[in-house]
Amino acid sequence: MIKLHILGSASALPELNKHHAAIMVSYSNQNQLWDAGEGVSEQILKYGYDKNFIDDILITHFHPDHISGIFMLLQMLYLQGRTKKLRIFIPEDINFFQSMLENLYLFPKKFNFTLEIYNLKNVKRYLPEIELIPNDHLKKYKKMPSQIAHSYKNHSIFLSAEKKILYTSDIPNFSSLQYVAAEADIIVLDALHPRYSEIVYFIENTKARVILNHGVPEEFKNAKYETADENKIINI
Ligand SMILES: [Zn+2]
Ligand SMILES: [Zn+2]
Repeated sequence: MIKLHILGSASALPELNKHHAAIMVSYSNQNQLWDAGEGVSEQILKYGYDKNFIDDILITHFHPDHISGIFMLLQMLYLQGRTKKLRIFIPEDINFFQSMLENLYLFPKKFNFTLEIYNLKNVKRYLPEIELIPNDHLKKYKKMPSQIAHSYKNHSIFLSAEKKILYTSDIPNFSSLQYVAAEADIIVLDALHPRYSEIVYFIENTKARVILNHGVPEEFKNAKYETADENKIINI
């Protein structure tokens, strides 16, 4: 059985009673957190997930609504006395991320647990059932002057376990997803960025159960469409 627990379904714009992007995914005796937006620690406390529950954290991209909660989460796990190894997979430079932690006085050497940080592009070596589908969500930033060597990469996550799960993360359109979308049983879909007409066309033409996520436009808030209500748990 696979369990998907949507802990945060808001988009980049904070909303009352919502949290930012975070999904707890459990299958084959392992537990992963996909994205770690603000509010994820509070949600983990609310649902009683133990300090040693999460095995791996996968961050799809470095927009604040997808990563801002990771710092408090690490601090919480440290203060709670976590002991189990934790792996984090990120799509940006690992040294830069380690400096971000140190900037916040988070020193993994002080933790009671081993923290391993890997580049997300190598995730298949450790989790062969995970496939990443890159997209152009961050391409627009290439024009911006920056002192940081960004990867400009965002990814959808496709899990092939007992069932096939697609978490789109943020997508500009559907062009990157054609192949995997046809295979998926469940799609947790970015309902904010693609055009409304494109989303409707996509839903009408897929056999998958589609859960609209990441801030749901008003047009979708009717009984015809399933939305990622905060705290939604899906067992399949
Ligand atoms: Zn986002
Ligand atoms: Zn984004």
